[in-house]
Amino acid sequence: MTARPDTVADRATICFRHAYGQPPVGRWAAPGRVNLIGEHTDYNDGFVLPFALPLRTVVAATPQQTGSWTVCSELTGETVGFGVDEVTRPGRVTGWAAYVAGVVWALREAGHPVPGARLAIASDVPLGAGLSSSAALEAAVLAALVDLGGLALTAEQQPRLAQRAENHYVGAPTGIMDQSAAIRCRTGHALFLDCRTEQVEHIPFDLDGAGLAILVIDSRAPHRHADGEYAARRASCEKAAALLDVPALRDVPAAGLDDALARLPDDEIRRRVRHVVTEDQRVLDTVALLRDGQVRQIGPLLTASHASMRDDFAITVPEVDTAVEAALAAGALGARMTGGGFGGCVLALVEADQSDRVGAAVTAAYAARGFTTPTLCTATPAAGATRLD
Ligand code: ADP
Ligand code: MG
Repeated sequence: MTARPDTVADRATICFRHAYGQPPVGRWAAPGRVNLIGEHTDYNDGFVLPFALPLRTVVAATPQQTGSWTVCSELTGETVGFGVDEVTRPGRVTGWAAYVAGVVWALREAGHPVPGARLAIASDVPLGAGLSSSAALEAAVLAALVDLGGLALTAEQQPRLAQRAENHYVGAPTGIMDQSAAIRCRTGHALFLDCRTEQVEHIPFDLDGAGLAILVIDSRAPHRHADGEYAARRASCEKAAALLDVPALRDVPAAGLDDALARLPDDEIRRRVRHVVTEDQRVLDTVALLRDGQVRQIGPLLTASHASMRDDFAITVPEVDTAVEAALAAGALGARMTGGGFGGCVLALVEADQSDRVGAAVTAAYAARGFTTPTLCTATPAAGATRLD
């Protein structure tokens, strides 16, 4: 039996050598993320507060002749090549390599002279778990191509470009949060993002200093019509904004919530609006506490966010509710589902020395209900996309 190489960066190099028979000229990394708070606020022009995970996607790369790209992934064991024809218009490369071709397409469309490249990808970010492996892949590829080509593209401009790759080339509708987090996060900080202006602020989030940890629990819940439900929530929010005569629900102030609710026609739409407006306020309250170094005090806001997603926005499922309840019962300071809903991950704010105990309690609660065993990890706020060497 051969031992698994230590780091994801080593694995990217091995993948590169295996595919191309030479070492790469450099390696670039970009992280997965969790959203600390601010769910379904992004498309309402509101606020989100993600932080980057220590789990990363690494791209090893070398330039090759102009107009030619080759990419392999350790995960799929596949090598895919494409040329200028495939990146003149979206959709010509499909499957996982579309995320890579999409970045090339978006760069070219923005007028950048994209260098040809050989690329190899390895990742520690689990796919499809709601930790944004897709944005990590886009951000790492983008960082590599920008560096190899000496392209004039600032960190501020990159998230929008990566988002275009995912929205238009891959065809997946996502907001700007995932790519902003993968590119712009800083170690020890959460990223306070205003989704209307795309302004960011790095908010200190010192878990170690406070003796705390964030436990991330992959609920392993099967996907249940998440795409259709997402579209339905989005449509409700747009309808409500039109009824309230505001550009977006972000423009309904928390202080004016009751007045706004009184103007809406039915209970369901009132609940949807109440979630979005109170969630925006919870993000602002969380930011205020973190600015003040009061990390422990954000716990109740996380738990209130979960209750709002469960009761008003109706996007939770039994697995995530069970994980939140079990974590809180075992002493977590706060817990909530993170991500779009209908599965994905739960995060729990815990005393650092209680993390194992809370994790064990969640696992036991899952076993008692016959759910698939959840996977657990602890997360500290890590850095955004970077060149490794
Ligand atoms: P999430 O972003 O929550 O992990 P998505 O469905 O948005 O889930 O993106 C997952 C997709 O991204 C995968 O199905 C695959 O196509 C692509 N992907 C991400 N990371 C890799 C990787 N290391 N190798 C190949 N494809 C990847
Ligand atoms: Mg994704």
